Amino acid sequence: MPSPSAINRFYNSSNLIPCVFPLFRVVFLLLSLSSAASSTHISGGPQDDLFPEILRDEAVARLYELGKVSDGDGFLERTFLSPASIRAGNLIRTWMEDAGLTTWVDGLGNVHGRVEPPHASNKALLIGSHLDTVVDAGMFDGALGIICAISALKVLNMTGRSTNLQHPVEVIAFSDEEGVRFQSTFLGSAAIAGVLPNSTLHVSDKSGLTVQNVLKHNSIDTSEENLSQIKYDPDSVLGYIEVHIEQGPVLESVGVPLAVVKGIAGQTRLKVRVRGSQGHAGTVPMSMRRDPMTAAAELIVLLESLCKRPHDFISSDGQCNAFSLDSLVCTVGQIDTWPSASNVIPGQVSFTIDIRSMDDMGREAIIYELSNQMHRICDGRLVSCFLERKHDADAVSCDGGLNSQLKSAAYAALKRMTGEDIGDVPVLMSGAGHDAMAMSRLTKVGMLFVRCRGGISHSPEEYVLEDDVWTAGLAIQAFLDTNL
Ligand SMILES: [Zn+2]
Repeated sequence: MPSPSAINRFYNSSNLIPCVFPLFRVVFLLLSLSSAASSTHISGGPQDDLFPEILRDEAVARLYELGKVSDGDGFLERTFLSPASIRAGNLIRTWMEDAGLTTWVDGLGNVHGRVEPPHASNKALLIGSHLDTVVDAGMFDGALGIICAISALKVLNMTGRSTNLQHPVEVIAFSDEEGVRFQSTFLGSAAIAGVLPNSTLHVSDKSGLTVQNVLKHNSIDTSEENLSQIKYDPDSVLGYIEVHIEQGPVLESVGVPLAVVKGIAGQTRLKVRVRGSQGHAGTVPMSMRRDPMTAAAELIVLLESLCKRPHDFISSDGQCNAFSLDSLVCTVGQIDTWPSASNVIPGQVSFTIDIRSMDDMGREAIIYELSNQMHRICDGRLVSCFLERKHDADAVSCDGGLNSQLKSAAYAALKRMTGEDIGDVPVLMSGAGHDAMAMSRLTKVGMLFVRCRGGISHSPEEYVLEDDVWTAGLAIQAFLDTNL
């Protein structure tokens, strides 16, 4: 069995982020660590086999095979029901069938594989992630969770343990999470959760095809009349779990392959428009300018200060203790200027703001303060500023019961991989959205994060150690063995 140092060999040798803390013994700000239940263990007979040939070798080979299924030439791109997405769905379906699952595709192109134990209740545990990707993607985002779940169920079926399960288990490969094609995220999981608006069927892609057209081209006849048939009855579902790469650097920095996810941050996207007086770069004196570019620059620096030191700004209202703003992150990712010429003082500058926090009230307080400060700055610079809300999503808390079961399962998997009592399993919050967000509208959700190199994601540089893929599969297997 690999030792902790073996697990970290890759990271230490590559010097990407030196591991400065003792392995598995780390306390740091973003994590809240608590004791893993030591009662979980898997003992006896074939359970003691770690199945590396399925949970590691085959799972990794499948990740690479799926990573080649692309609409792009020389880069990975699979958008909602694109030709490559259909091929990927078919491939996943064959792997589900190889694992002994009964498969089907639903009215939004989600691929399902289910094991129905003989004496199971009617409440199924759902395990999912997404098969679509961003443009020029990595091969682990989404795919890792689907493939590890299939591998874990394959082991359970092979060893006959699935017949002992008290609940059906269903793996779902969601058709759209990234929202690249229709600029509308969670098409697949939102339909299953019953929260996809009918109007989404009529949203068009760049070529003018609607969601409904694209479904029809793939022989899926979904309309406003039958969209609700995709929705699951909450009474038929036990819960939803998702295994996903962390997409951030924390697990690598502490040298632990797995973490439990406490919740998914709420998010607001804003657009700020700043209007000034367009003019000649050579003739308008500095004192007479109404320059929206310099105003925008001041606003962006203000946003950074607000999100780095929120209590400097909102502590005076006496409500500071009501918010937890530790997880607050703010980003300006896009700026547009008009007319965008080097010798012209712009007439208008607009930019986007993305604000995320686990605390919805804290996020609202930041937006309120931003708005106040923005008008003060804009008035001082004699420019007009407009703040427009483009998107809001509340934070999602993962279920406490599922989390403690996932923590025990992660603990058991880590212990089996290292042969040591590894202490605590980290608890992280997710700054990125996941299908679990949409599924939380249907049922209780839980998530595990898997370490990825450099925290890099949405990039071909995305990478997960083979042994971490194995550990993730073991953790799912331990979860199913112990809790179902
Ligand atoms: Zn993802």
